[in-house]
Amino acid sequence: MDEQQPGFKGLNMIDGPGDAEATTTMAPIAPMAMEQPEAAPPTTSASSDSGTHARVLIIGSGPAGLTAAIYAARADLEPVVIAGFIPGGQLMITSDVENYPGFPDGIQGPELMAAMRAQAVRFGTRIHDLDIESVDFSSRPFKVTAGGTTFTADAVIVATGASAIWLELENETRLRGRGVSACATCDGFFFRDKKVAVVGGGDSALEEALFLTKFASEVVLIHRRDEFRGSRIMRRRAEKHPKISIQWNSQVVDVLGQEKIEGLRIKDTQTGVEREEPMEGLFVAIGHKPNTDVFKDWLETDKKGYLVVTDHTLSGIEGVFLAGDVHDHRYRQAVTAAGDGCKAAIDAERWLEAQAAEAGEQAAAAPAGEAVSVA
Ligand SMILES: Cc1cc2nc3c(=O)[nH]c(=O)nc-3n(C[C@H](O)[C@H](O)[C@H](O)COP(=O)(O)OP(=O)(O)OC[C@H]3O[C@@H](n4cnc5c(N)ncnc54)[C@H](O)[C@@H]3O)c2cc1C
Repeated sequence: MDEQQPGFKGLNMIDGPGDAEATTTMAPIAPMAMEQPEAAPPTTSASSDSGTHARVLIIGSGPAGLTAAIYAARADLEPVVIAGFIPGGQLMITSDVENYPGFPDGIQGPELMAAMRAQAVRFGTRIHDLDIESVDFSSRPFKVTAGGTTFTADAVIVATGASAIWLELENETRLRGRGVSACATCDGFFFRDKKVAVVGGGDSALEEALFLTKFASEVVLIHRRDEFRGSRIMRRRAEKHPKISIQWNSQVVDVLGQEKIEGLRIKDTQTGVEREEPMEGLFVAIGHKPNTDVFKDWLETDKKGYLVVTDHTLSGIEGVFLAGDVHDHRYRQAVTAAGDGCKAAIDAERWLEAQAAEAGEQAAAAPAGEAVSVA
């Protein structure tokens, strides 16, 4: 990122989950999306008899989903990807990505995701830019309904990610990537010697603030209450840090600046008095919402709503695998999500092979003419 423009991530702003505009503003990957007509979903596997069956169906097209697709496609599993409301995932709302290995000069988020998508398509992945409406994991093949079409699949990889929760201020959205961020690990580096604010009061906000002290000249923690929710040790570390100052009972009500963030309007939650404060960066750390609503009747979630992995990438349902931020709230990075997608595809492939071998053994052992099923 340009040192002159801290946090400048001005490309392809896509609004948050469920925003109707999201699917219409995905300019960088639209040409590839057009290669995948939606009207008649293509036949996806040799074992298909309806055109909507896949051996592996992947839900989500962020780094986890597309990496899973690359691995599954190269294993000849002809995967289908249901790309969802943000084709390309969270990196579509950022610009410079400087920590994804292999790009010494960095790469734009949308460019990286377009390359991943092209790589998946090159090996035979079929991608549908649809949102999943419902799933039925009660029996195999699994059923997944998207855009009114019910797809069936022998194995499913869930890679629906988690969306950052924003303040929902108009200028915050406009200046996302122009100094407004939701990821200090990703963007902190761009704020060397700048004054930045972190909004939030939980452990994540305290962690983000402490991480930012490595770069920023000053970190202002803004919290709407008069005490933090975070753990005592994190609170103590933040409160004692010489670069961190805390503004209690304070709420950001506007983000100021035209091309990049220049300041914040902050309201005192007790008196209602508003003030303006110069600021060169804003990190919103008020939480993430895992995109798991559609699975809640089928897959176990933890108390924050993230899916629970039982063993490596396995969910509690045999044949349903999990990858990326949808279960991983510890690392939340593109490279860890991609690694997870790789693991889920390998696990799915091995599981399908074991299923086929089991079916073969049962068929060999069964008396002639008797039907055999391992489902
Ligand atoms: C502003 C910002 C900047 C970032 N910068 C960096 C960075 O520089 N480097 C880095 O390593 N990481 C960065 N990250 C983190 C990184 O983007 C995530 O860790 C990564 O994208 C997670 O990948 P994922 O595939 O698990 O999920 P996501 O990227 O969130 O993708 C989820 C996918 O699931 C789909 N989906 C959701 N619900 C449904 C549904 N019902 N039906 C179908 N599909 C659905 C979505 O459309 C999307 O395609 C950043 C994050 C943010 C928010």
